[in-house]
Amino acid sequence: MDKPFLGAFQKPTDQAHRLGPLQKVHLPMRRFEERDEVDYAIVGCGAAGGVLLQRLARAGFRVVALEAGPFWDTERDWVSDESGSHQLYWEDPRVTGGKNPLALGANNCGRGVGGGSVHWAAFTPRLHPSDFEIYTRDGVGVDWPISYETLRPYYEQLELEMPVAGPAYYPWGHPHGYAYGPHPMGGVGNALIKGCSALNIPVSIGGPVAILSGSHGDRPHCIYRGFCIQGCKVGAKASTLITHVPDALQSGAEIRDRSMASRIELGKNGRVTGVHYFDEHGQAHFQRAKAVIISGYSIETPRLLLNSACAGFDKGLANSSGTVGRYLMAQAGNVVLGRFDQPVRMYKAPPAHALTEEFYETNPTNDFARGFAIQTVGPLPIAFGKQMVAAKKAWGWGLRREMMDYNQWATFGLLGEILPWADNRVTIADETDRFGLRVAHVNFNLHDNDKKLIKAAKEKTMEVMHAAGATEVVQEARYAHLVGAARMGADPGSSVVDKFGRTHDIPNLFVCDGSILPTQGSANPGLTIQALAARTANYLISQGSAVFTNGKRDMTEPPLRRELAPPGTYGRGVPRLK
Ligand SMILES: Cc1cc2nc3c(=O)[nH]c(=O)nc-3n(C[C@H](O)[C@H](O)[C@H](O)COP(=O)(O)OP(=O)(O)OC[C@H]3O[C@@H](n4cnc5c(N)ncnc54)[C@H](O)[C@@H]3O)c2cc1C
Ligand code: SF4
Repeated sequence: MDKPFLGAFQKPTDQAHRLGPLQKVHLPMRRFEERDEVDYAIVGCGAAGGVLLQRLARAGFRVVALEAGPFWDTERDWVSDESGSHQLYWEDPRVTGGKNPLALGANNCGRGVGGGSVHWAAFTPRLHPSDFEIYTRDGVGVDWPISYETLRPYYEQLELEMPVAGPAYYPWGHPHGYAYGPHPMGGVGNALIKGCSALNIPVSIGGPVAILSGSHGDRPHCIYRGFCIQGCKVGAKASTLITHVPDALQSGAEIRDRSMASRIELGKNGRVTGVHYFDEHGQAHFQRAKAVIISGYSIETPRLLLNSACAGFDKGLANSSGTVGRYLMAQAGNVVLGRFDQPVRMYKAPPAHALTEEFYETNPTNDFARGFAIQTVGPLPIAFGKQMVAAKKAWGWGLRREMMDYNQWATFGLLGEILPWADNRVTIADETDRFGLRVAHVNFNLHDNDKKLIKAAKEKTMEVMHAAGATEVVQEARYAHLVGAARMGADPGSSVVDKFGRTHDIPNLFVCDGSILPTQGSANPGLTIQALAARTANYLISQGSAVFTNGKRDMTEPPLRRELAPPGTYGRGVPRLK
């Protein structure tokens, strides 16, 4: 065939950066001089940073993103191979501790343009209305300074921008529908449906997931080959690298990749003046900026604030409350594996394609508050092998025997709400990284409510696996999705940022990423993080130059700006239940 369906293969060049078989961005992009004082310097171009960059550039601000990792050319840099995708993760040294230490490093945080949205599985459920007021309702955790209704228009907007495929009617939380049709089921999804149906548990089929069920602009639809958390070379899975970054560059933003921010500089007038960073050769630079937004994720954001301690903020920048680094959360993410007599072939679909939120809310008959979700997981063979080692202590010939049966296994994951606790925190260790910067120390302990919730969630997920017909069911304890550690709140004494992400202490310093979440629910956090970024951008645009000059906080909710959506996204899809 001379000309394949998607066009002849083109060799990557320096000028055309390829983001998929069809999609590309044309370089060189705009370059600011370091002596230029840009309007906004954003640290980190991940899930939140990518949305902020696109919105602010589209509104005409001079904006640069400093990103520690590379600007991926997906045709050149990515491989559809499980062992070849470690470069997508943040693998710099970190120290982990506490009674229940979190596994950090590979398969945890993202690195590179797109951040964690490059390797996420792309499940995109919304938080429930109850998540914004768990203290009022259940007497645990803390209430958010905003309600579900405040965030709802941004959920709707981002679901169209990614876009999200899912059922026409999604019954949990605030019931709603999706504008793009759901995906067909893979083997794991079928097992989840079978297990849930046998137990009369409602289940959502084919989403919500930010993966294309039909082609969309210059992005092809999913081809169901299961390499989603390896980056999706097809371009069917949404990441800000392909959904928002192209429009950001088109609108005049700069992304300075391989640039590791080391310290935020505080000026004499109590306002930040810019960001110190190292380039890939270890050379130190300083980018001047009228305002700075940190979007480095739940560990690197507090680390940067703590490493930016200076006169007046000797415990860390913007840390007068002492809460920078505290209230770090991870969701319980136990993996339950079931062996079936018939082949399941769990690799032949996106890992994320079916779930139930039937156990999400607090049930007064339980001995714990809050709840959990059950979702499909489709580990590829290396991840499956590690799970067999952990769950069955399989090794040597025994492990080989299990691996030979890979096709017979299905995997479900529970996603359980662990509450925000002050002792779950990020501090800085004495060890340093290759730039000489002190690395993060992460301390994590489970509390009584968390342990009871995990036990119940594990038992229910195993029950569903048995009901699906599995002849053997085992499980591995693990955690997923870090959030918190620079939380938002109305009280400057117990939170780091206000409801728009502005630090309580410094009027032109913002935090906008997963670290500002006060609680996490049992929904995967990526959609919420991007919705919050779109709202913060709206706020900044509404404030205009006041952010750069004025110390006074205007707490008026900004109007929704549909016109800021990347072209060809808003108004597409079919009408749906709102
Ligand atoms: C395997 C896996 C699967 C997941 N699946 C899902 C899912 O299905 N659904 C979901 O909602 N979520 C999922 N997540 C979680 C999701 O990826 C994260 O919640 C989300 O990406 C966090 O967004 P963020 O903007 O806070 O940070 P990120 O997206 O991680 O972006 C932070 C960026 O900042 C950069 N950075 C950090 N520090 C610095 C610095 N000092 N200088 C310069 N740059 C810096 C990093 O390189 C990175 O690119 C998954 C995560 C993993 C690991
Ligand atoms: S299954 Fe679909 S979304 Fe996942 S990597 Fe393959 S094409 Fe991409």
